Amino acid sequence: MPLRERRLNFGDKWNYAPAPEDSKNYAIAPQHELFIGGKLVKPKSGKYFPSINPATEEKLTEIAAANEKDVDSAVKSARRAYEKVWSKMPGRERGKYLYRIARIIQEKSRELAVLETMDGGKTIKESRDVDLPLVAAHFFYYAGWADKLKYAFPGKNPQPLGVAGQIIPWNFPLLMAAWKIAPALACGNTVVLKPAETTSLTAMRLAQIFQEAELPEGVVNIVTGAAETGAALVNHPDINKLAFTGSTEVGKRIAQVVAGTKKKLTLELGGKAANILFEDAPIDQAIEGVIAGIYFNQGHVCCAGSRLFVQEGIYSTVIKKLRDRIQTLRVGNPLDKNTDIGAINSKPQLQKIRELVQSGVDEGAQLTQSSCSLPSKGYWFPPTFLTGVTHSHRVANEEIFGPVLSVMTFRTPEEAFERANNIPYGLSAGVWTDKGSKIFKMVNKLRAGVVWANTYNKFDPTSPFGGYKESGFGREGGLQGLAAYCKLD
Ligand code: NAD
Ligand code: MN
Repeated sequence: MPLRERRLNFGDKWNYAPAPEDSKNYAIAPQHELFIGGKLVKPKSGKYFPSINPATEEKLTEIAAANEKDVDSAVKSARRAYEKVWSKMPGRERGKYLYRIARIIQEKSRELAVLETMDGGKTIKESRDVDLPLVAAHFFYYAGWADKLKYAFPGKNPQPLGVAGQIIPWNFPLLMAAWKIAPALACGNTVVLKPAETTSLTAMRLAQIFQEAELPEGVVNIVTGAAETGAALVNHPDINKLAFTGSTEVGKRIAQVVAGTKKKLTLELGGKAANILFEDAPIDQAIEGVIAGIYFNQGHVCCAGSRLFVQEGIYSTVIKKLRDRIQTLRVGNPLDKNTDIGAINSKPQLQKIRELVQSGVDEGAQLTQSSCSLPSKGYWFPPTFLTGVTHSHRVANEEIFGPVLSVMTFRTPEEAFERANNIPYGLSAGVWTDKGSKIFKMVNKLRAGVVWANTYNKFDPTSPFGGYKESGFGREGGLQGLAAYCKLD
């Protein structure tokens, strides 16, 4: 009997012993305030809302709900800091602060990873080994540009834009904060950041890091709250630049509000990436990439490889390998170092995943799910794939944002890129083949901001990231990410 089947049939005998990360050393304050003017201040609204651990449904803390007045004082504080301090400071001095922040993040990275996992449900393996190193890397990278902006844009005179309003989602809470704050500060802008309502904890820990780094007061302000807080920021008249990462639906609404104003806008929205698997690909390696592409972070990834296109000749082999491989994925306590798949971020997100998967079954697709047992408390969804999916099915078009892969087939490279492109989104794609010429052909035809070849979900601060079509516009990361925060005359 192959090892994999033995492991399944013998239950616990073949499981690893639990290896939970210690969370007791990191105290979480029972209540979190707003971060305005360098200080933690109570919300004028007087209101707080709970943030829970989605793996246990336990309340972790209370988060302040900022209203319009709170947002207004945050914007005023950012404006003062912009005019009096930050825009006048030489780039080399701004860079020193960014380096200092990056180093403190590295020092506290274990604590930040534990908090990220507890508040958001992602596995400690990912928050510790992927999110936190990238968070520090983004601050280091943009710190390096702060005194070299003229070299970044030769012949131009890069100037800051002013106050940036930044709204981020819950899937990579700290990393999205880093993508937005680091380039804004490097260019001399000041910031009002609004984290997602289910994952504000690490943003508030970041506020303490800014205090420790003695970042001048008001350079970064953080207002927590839900959609109304975000809307107050979008509508505030004294914002020069808005950067939004989130759903296409909300992004479209923001674009309407901003149209006709002088606010600059960048949008990073949803995706429905195609991962294209050719017959000549190294299949086992490709299967690992497909698995990482869709089940990484429970599929809570805008660039997740959520549509798999398999060339017909290898279809049955690929399906068999996928079926075996998802059985070996460990689902459960995200703080356990052996866990592959953590908790779904929130109850509404779990309901959305269930509803879309059911629509796939109702429309005629076949469901394959891991038979793993799920914890009784918390929000969970087992690794899943759907076969027999056709282009008209909702699961082939709508973003599921969960650990669910829709599998389809193709015959020729032309058919593959045409079908991959035949969708309103265009954030990312993957190509698996042994032939370099085929990679170049596909990369030139795929309408996606990022195309990975023989790998998937790899990120680097030097590399720009962003979408085509309804996946948004503007780029984050690299020089392009810097350009989004400068006037270039
Ligand atoms: P969402 O759009 O509901 O929320 C994102 C953020 O916007 C949150 O902070 C939320 O509070 C705020 N918000 C909600 N309504 C608002 C409004 N009317 N005005 C202003 N702000 C408002 O999205 P979500 O469900 O939290 O996140 C998942 C989505 O984000 C997915 O569609 C995913 O693809 C997308 N995403 C995209 C990227 C990218 O880089 N392209 C990265 C991560 C997530
Ligand atoms: Mn939470």
